[in-house]
Amino acid sequence: MEQSGWQLEHSYTGLPDVFYRKTTPEVAEFPEMVLFNWKLAESLGLEPRNLQLESNEVFSGNKVPDGGLPIAQAYAGHQFGSFTMLGDGRAILLGEQITPDGKRMDIQLKGAGRTAFSRMGDGRSPLGPMLREYIISEAMHALGIPSTRALALVTTGEAVSRDRMLPGAVLTRVAESHLRVGTFEYGARLEDKSHIRTLADYAIKRHYPESEGPEKYRKFFDAVIDRQAELISKWQLVGFIHGVMNTDNMTISGETIDYGPCAFMDVYDPETAFSSIDVNKRYRYSNQPGIAQWNLARLAETMLPLIHEDQEEAMKIAQASLGAFGKQYNEYWRSGMRDKIGLVGEQEADDRLVEELLDLLHEYKADYTKTFRMLSLDALEDMPLYATDTFKDWYDAWQERLESQSISIEAAYKKMRSVNPAVIPRNHLVEEALDAAVENGDFTKASKLIEVLSSPFDDGHERMFKEPPEDEKRVHMTYCG
Ligand code: AMP
Ligand code: MG
Ligand code: MG
Repeated sequence: MEQSGWQLEHSYTGLPDVFYRKTTPEVAEFPEMVLFNWKLAESLGLEPRNLQLESNEVFSGNKVPDGGLPIAQAYAGHQFGSFTMLGDGRAILLGEQITPDGKRMDIQLKGAGRTAFSRMGDGRSPLGPMLREYIISEAMHALGIPSTRALALVTTGEAVSRDRMLPGAVLTRVAESHLRVGTFEYGARLEDKSHIRTLADYAIKRHYPESEGPEKYRKFFDAVIDRQAELISKWQLVGFIHGVMNTDNMTISGETIDYGPCAFMDVYDPETAFSSIDVNKRYRYSNQPGIAQWNLARLAETMLPLIHEDQEEAMKIAQASLGAFGKQYNEYWRSGMRDKIGLVGEQEADDRLVEELLDLLHEYKADYTKTFRMLSLDALEDMPLYATDTFKDWYDAWQERLESQSISIEAAYKKMRSVNPAVIPRNHLVEEALDAAVENGDFTKASKLIEVLSSPFDDGHERMFKEPPEDEKRVHMTYCG
């Protein structure tokens, strides 16, 4: 038989067995692969050509791949601030694929049926949300933002019951791991108090081996804080709103996970929130850094006994670490913002330049992504913002600032174009692609969107900004606001 390239290991099941349950994916009646991430498959060491023979079966959960051992992971979490016991209710881990370059990547099926943690749920996923996760997680990766990846999308041929009957699907998700802040919250509440140490040791070995040695738990905690500070700064810089930043949706690895009601902000408004279930706007754009810190405080609580034997001492250490989050976040964010407007070298008025620009975007309800991209192209003329005197003043000051630095203005623009995307997964585009797939089984829009989003900084997209032919005008509108 041709080799399909699976190299599955199972370090996670080396943890005490309270951390998981063995499970069996449910059989899908008519599985059909609708999207497959060929490049990702190759980077994982899979052989897509040989895989195709069994792909419908494997990526629907019907057939466990060579060396696979399906489990559901146990975890807990604070959801909208309240603690709950959870676990993979509709996700099944097949194993950890060892890639040709020696990385260990979780391979997980989402929507392949009930597990021990499904509670009242059916363990299934409708096609829409799975396609949404596929599109947005891949877009995030292309934007340079750490994220879980999407390897395959298979429709099951079965209907899933929600407010109406919907086509079912299974998404294969790839992640450095699925360890969550919520996994630690679960571990810390187990009767056996040695389990949290075992879990922390496992996470350190898998994700932060450089933290080994004296004070390793504090170092590990600091490293998680640093990765989250960087991650959230990247979200803010592209205008990404996660929507459900519960502690069970925050990874230890620093990857973005769980694409539910997430969306990119169009018009710049720090108070933007999309999720209809987030009635108090807990997870609004401006709150994301604060929520990340709150979640990290929940992580700290689980590790106090590991950080120091004297709990008062441990608390002080954890507080100091947590206190650094804001500063770290600000440094990442500030540096990213400077890049977005092409600044090189530090000058006194730089921070004000950034603040004033954001204030102007807010005041004039300007599109966040489009404004930065148009700044990078020096092509703002047709934006309403440009017609205002206050913006012109800002623009002149900015031009003067660019002229005063060591690189040419052209070079600054070029750098800006490498950080300010021309295309992002705008909500209306994603919805259009989902609609065509769900209502008509038509994946051409989704495929096209995925392809365009795979090179978000590409100057090639610029043709969309220049005098487009009549029949392309809609594209111009949609991608850029
Ligand atoms: P989420 O809001 O997607 O982070 O999910 C929260 C919890 O609900 C997780 O433990 C999920 O596994 C579980 N869950 C979500 N949808 C389902 C479903 N259809 N069946 C069973 N469990 C589910
Ligand atoms: Mg979740
Ligand atoms: Mg979810």
